[in-house]
Amino acid sequence: MKLYYDFHIHSCLSPCGDNDMTPNNLVNMAKLLGLDAIALTDHNTCGNCAATAEVAKQAGLLFLPGMELCTAEEIHVICLFPTVAAAEAFEESLAPFPFVENRPEIFGEQRLCNTKDEIVGCEERLLTVASSMSIDNVAEAVNAFGGVAFPAHIDRPSYSITAALGDIPPLGFTAAELTITADKEQYLKQYPLLQTMTLLTDSDAHYLENMPESTPYIEIAEATPEAVIALLKQRSHIRTR
Ligand SMILES: [Zn+2]
Ligand SMILES: [Zn+2]
Repeated sequence: MKLYYDFHIHSCLSPCGDNDMTPNNLVNMAKLLGLDAIALTDHNTCGNCAATAEVAKQAGLLFLPGMELCTAEEIHVICLFPTVAAAEAFEESLAPFPFVENRPEIFGEQRLCNTKDEIVGCEERLLTVASSMSIDNVAEAVNAFGGVAFPAHIDRPSYSITAALGDIPPLGFTAAELTITADKEQYLKQYPLLQTMTLLTDSDAHYLENMPESTPYIEIAEATPEAVIALLKQRSHIRTR
């Protein structure tokens, strides 16, 4: 079956995520846009995944809990997990995070929500600070929690593997992410290793209006987080629309 997806979305927990990016708004917008599967990937946290997973379940939308990890080299990597418990255990394994107090007036609020979109707390640690995990270890570390990791927005000039390392070296990744406007063919030519990897296109939406009307799809036998993760661990291409 075709599974229309967006595996890189921020909620109101990310300081840069709009306060309207609540669990119900995200899920309802995804349904309106005809998406079949979404992942929630806030910066260095999966704190809003439990509430969003529950809302998505009620709406019949496939949900993958995750985070956008910032490595020690300041490379963004999307990490997806089969369950909220696995995502939370991975987050715990990253502790202690360098503590920099968030200043909401400068960086934005970091809101934790429940399934009714009520604010149940605010994260005090600035979530966009780099973790101490090296890019060399991410693929294996996420794999140990049953998940899959892939470098985010490799066509961007900042916080990307290409910007930080000047290349896409063999570090165990089986997938990589391009932004919606990237020229896929150009990147396949420029970085030959991508030819053995699954290329995903995600929105990296921080606002509801950034969630795209037209998204790519993956061909999958079964609409489960485990099947999506297994597919992304294969060394093959994904057809994009
Ligand atoms: Zn990013
Ligand atoms: Zn992002």
